[in-house]
Amino acid sequence: MDKKLKLAVIGKPITHSKSPDIHQNFANQFNAKIEFGKDEVTPDTLETWLTDFFKNGGKGVSITLPLKEAALNYADEISDRARLASACNVVYAKDKKLFGDNTDGHGLITDLENNLKVTLKDKKILILGAGGAARGIIPSIIEKKPAKLKVANRTKSKVLLLKKDLEGKVDLKEKNTIFEAGDLSDDFLLDDSYDIVINSTSISTQTGESIGLPKALFTGTKLAYDLFYAAEKTAFMQEALAGGAEKISDGWGMLVEQGAESFKLWTNLIPDTSRLLEKPID
Ligand code: NAP
Repeated sequence: MDKKLKLAVIGKPITHSKSPDIHQNFANQFNAKIEFGKDEVTPDTLETWLTDFFKNGGKGVSITLPLKEAALNYADEISDRARLASACNVVYAKDKKLFGDNTDGHGLITDLENNLKVTLKDKKILILGAGGAARGIIPSIIEKKPAKLKVANRTKSKVLLLKKDLEGKVDLKEKNTIFEAGDLSDDFLLDDSYDIVINSTSISTQTGESIGLPKALFTGTKLAYDLFYAAEKTAFMQEALAGGAEKISDGWGMLVEQGAESFKLWTNLIPDTSRLLEKPID
């Protein structure tokens, strides 16, 4: 690959993003030349930004919050992963067309199964939040046939819409998965116990505060996983430990693995993630 590849990550907030460093690490493994931008883009400016980027020779872009659902509208072709998720976290140019895909689910499952050695089959799983990231990971989780998957969101209408959308696309009976959607009330949250609790809300990104989860939520929890990544334990991870969760993780591994899958889409090269997983970038 002699030509310099033009890549970027967009969203808001974006300054904290480690994607440029991750992709530079991947590129270095192959002596590939890349320039990786980091731009603040909102749903209002998304169309103009994408048009300019690809007109000026852009190859691929990582899409982060709050743009994942809106980005679906700007690709000529959508992968099954993005269609099932109704969200895309990567758009790239190939054969004079724009393709939209979703590598978040792949990233999470690879981190859970390969790195953290956690299996999902027959497990009870709770996801907090119903935004673009939740939409990305839910189809991949269901593919692993958990016994039960519950999604709880602050705005109930939003999670009910997600449920309706999903039921039109995925055969939950065939997967033997019970799927429930509800709000963040104690009634809904404490109705079950969970092997795995996943925080996909953006609260850690925004304020770093806690959602105010009931302590009993983590009774019997084997793994509490925050999609957000940070040098310090997030409020969610601290709450989970205090509530008795056996193990906690932030979303660094997922970020690296979804990045590797996106890098493969852009370059046809499969990077080694092991070094980055061991040693997060400061
Ligand atoms: P999003 O589409 O903006 O969705 C945000 C979600 O958070 C919504 O469900 C929202 O609920 C909920 N929320 C926001 N503030 C809240 C609060 N104060 N209390 C309770 N719920 C709240 O964002 P996203 O794209 O899904 O991203 C979510 C998080 O995942 C971010 O922290 C992002 O950095 C992280 N992420 C990590 C990776 C990774 O690779 N590690 C990949 C993707 C995303 P409402 O519907 O009620 O507004």
